[in-house]
Amino acid sequence: MGRPVIFVVPHPDDETLGAGVAIAEHVAAGRDVHVLLMTRGTSSGAIDKINGSLWSPWWGAPHNPAVEGYQPLDSHTLGVARLREIRAALGCLGVSADRLHYAWDLIGVEPLDTQVSIAQAKAAIVALHQKVMADNPGSGNCGLWTPSHTVDNNSDHLNIGKASQQLGAEDPVVWADRRYWVIPPYWNDARLNQVVGRMWDTPADAQTANRVKNACRAYASWAPEQGMYAFGYHSVADMFAQMDGTTSTNGPKCLIHK
Ligand SMILES: [Zn+2]
Repeated sequence: MGRPVIFVVPHPDDETLGAGVAIAEHVAAGRDVHVLLMTRGTSSGAIDKINGSLWSPWWGAPHNPAVEGYQPLDSHTLGVARLREIRAALGCLGVSADRLHYAWDLIGVEPLDTQVSIAQAKAAIVALHQKVMADNPGSGNCGLWTPSHTVDNNSDHLNIGKASQQLGAEDPVVWADRRYWVIPPYWNDARLNQVVGRMWDTPADAQTANRVKNACRAYASWAPEQGMYAFGYHSVADMFAQMDGTTSTNGPKCLIHK
């Protein structure tokens, strides 16, 4: 097994939208890839689209749970559904379910969507890092990928990026290998001028690109009887369009910085 790497994901879908290409490439390179999910992402207003009280431009027709055969979602059932989506997406990227770790299992408290603190993120990263290194003695430094600490507006995303930054400042040897991803809405953001080492990560081959497109499909999966509600696409279809080939003519890519 290759050198370990941890991708820290604020909410289900951030891994595919921000780092899908990078995750698939690390798997292809034989790296020991772990994903740390911080929250179930249950505060999203897109729940009203599934429940029929809000129009979804992506779906283009109103939902009617009674007709379509499901109970309206609440925050609990939404959380369960979103975990199904990220597990399916990670499988497409080449990461099995036993390599998806939940912050709440590691730190004993569940960070809530929109309320992730820097301290919670650091604690979860350190806890997972200990576990990963114990399983891989002598495997070398662990890579750490998180959302950008600067180029984003979401506080969960920023705090996780800042957690990585702080870990790097506190122990530059252990955390020498850090990367930050920028999600599509900020690909032309002025704050990009404040970060260093910017680069596009494009798929090395067609199969890698296809893996990212397939991960997107997990978030478009409509199968209410199986508890799959295409939540990702109901929530941020525009962002997925940048990854699934709809508006990105050259296929998926990631914008990363150091
Ligand atoms: Zn997010």
